[in-house]
Amino acid sequence: MQLSYWEKSSYLAYDYIILGAGITGLSLGIELATAFPNAKIAILERGIFPSGASTKNAGFACIGSLSEKIVDRNLMGDEAFLSLIEDRWEGLQILRQRLGDKAIDFQEYGGYELIFQQQDDVFLADMEEMNQCLKSLLGRATFSIEANANKAFGFNPKHIKTIIKNKHEGQIDTGKMMQSLSALCSSKGVQIFTNTNVHSLEEENQVVSVNCEAITFKAKHVFLCTNAFTKKFLPDEEIEPGRGQVVVTKPIEQLKIKGIFSFDEGYYYFRNINNRIIFGGGRNLDFEGESTTQFGSNPPILHKLKQYLEETILYQTPFEIDYHWSGIMAFGGKKQALIKKVSERIYVGARLNGMGVAIGSKVAKKLLTLLQQHS
Ligand SMILES: Cc1cc2nc3c(=O)[nH]c(=O)nc-3n(C[C@H](O)[C@H](O)[C@H](O)COP(=O)(O)OP(=O)(O)OC[C@H]3O[C@@H](n4cnc5c(N)ncnc54)[C@H](O)[C@@H]3O)c2cc1C
Repeated sequence: MQLSYWEKSSYLAYDYIILGAGITGLSLGIELATAFPNAKIAILERGIFPSGASTKNAGFACIGSLSEKIVDRNLMGDEAFLSLIEDRWEGLQILRQRLGDKAIDFQEYGGYELIFQQQDDVFLADMEEMNQCLKSLLGRATFSIEANANKAFGFNPKHIKTIIKNKHEGQIDTGKMMQSLSALCSSKGVQIFTNTNVHSLEEENQVVSVNCEAITFKAKHVFLCTNAFTKKFLPDEEIEPGRGQVVVTKPIEQLKIKGIFSFDEGYYYFRNINNRIIFGGGRNLDFEGESTTQFGSNPPILHKLKQYLEETILYQTPFEIDYHWSGIMAFGGKKQALIKKVSERIYVGARLNGMGVAIGSKVAKKLLTLLQQHS
């Protein structure tokens, strides 16, 4: 591409370039612009919109269900477990304070875990101990059994035997959150380029060349906030893509369901939005098929989602599925995000393990701290 003098002098060189305009990349743009108000900062995004997980998710502002927490604690040990909960909790507070509850339509209706009749519920015996474990962080008893919730929400009583409430959980409007993050970035002078797919990075002479289709940008420091798509740049890192399927119903008259809900250790999740239900999950039905960075549908999983809606969630309530979509998450053996300096001038903040609404803002803060420690 032939560039003008003005394009070369104004558009190509930056102090900081961030790859990816998801929650992490946009939050980092805000962190950098706040810490270094005179710095030139750009975010390069391959999609017309952010095209990974951040505009595709369910908008749960959550720390997770009881069964999921018990599995995590056993797997990670107390120290790492509590540090992850702290990141989720603090990340949500940063997001809410940064954008304001109104702008992201934050509603604290609570979170609920559904226990099915045939499900083993021995983990309920550990609820009080979990509450004690979380007390120093969250203050009051987090989990409680909700005796009348089944009736109130209209679930099939033949399927659901117990509902556990998490008082600390809420929901946001994901679209509004992403728009607000973009607007805040722009207001702080961060330049966001969409439709800009980065092919490769080359680091020499204290500069990183950021190679796109027709243009090479230059930066003093580069941050990879490309979550599931990071392996292209860091093939040796442990990052597994995980696609998530989501359906949304048409508006339902007198919808009783209000809040965020999950079951099967968080593999299924649903919520209300404008008299509709957004319902996602089922990745555990086909881990192999869903370990992909390609967007697309998985008919058996979509069929299962519809079946749960008909038989359990919207039991005896007429509804129609309006449409469906997919989004791509990133997972690893460890539940912690991958946050590190990978070379002299390149940093990564990725692998958000399906909880980026909660931890994305905290990951960005940790990236800024890492940069400051090395500058
Ligand atoms: C279906 C679904 C439901 C979810 N529900 C929830 C929830 O309720 N609560 C919660 O906390 N979390 C949820 N998540 C997880 C959450 O959305 C993610 O953890 C979070 O969005 C990750 O943000 P990110 O910015 O790190 O990554 P992403 O949003 O994936 O952003 C990475 C960006 O990098 C861009 N990119 C990639 N490669 C390149 C390249 N080469 N050049 C330029 N740009 C590139 C991508 O297009 C993308 O926009 C859900 C995810 C999915 C898919």
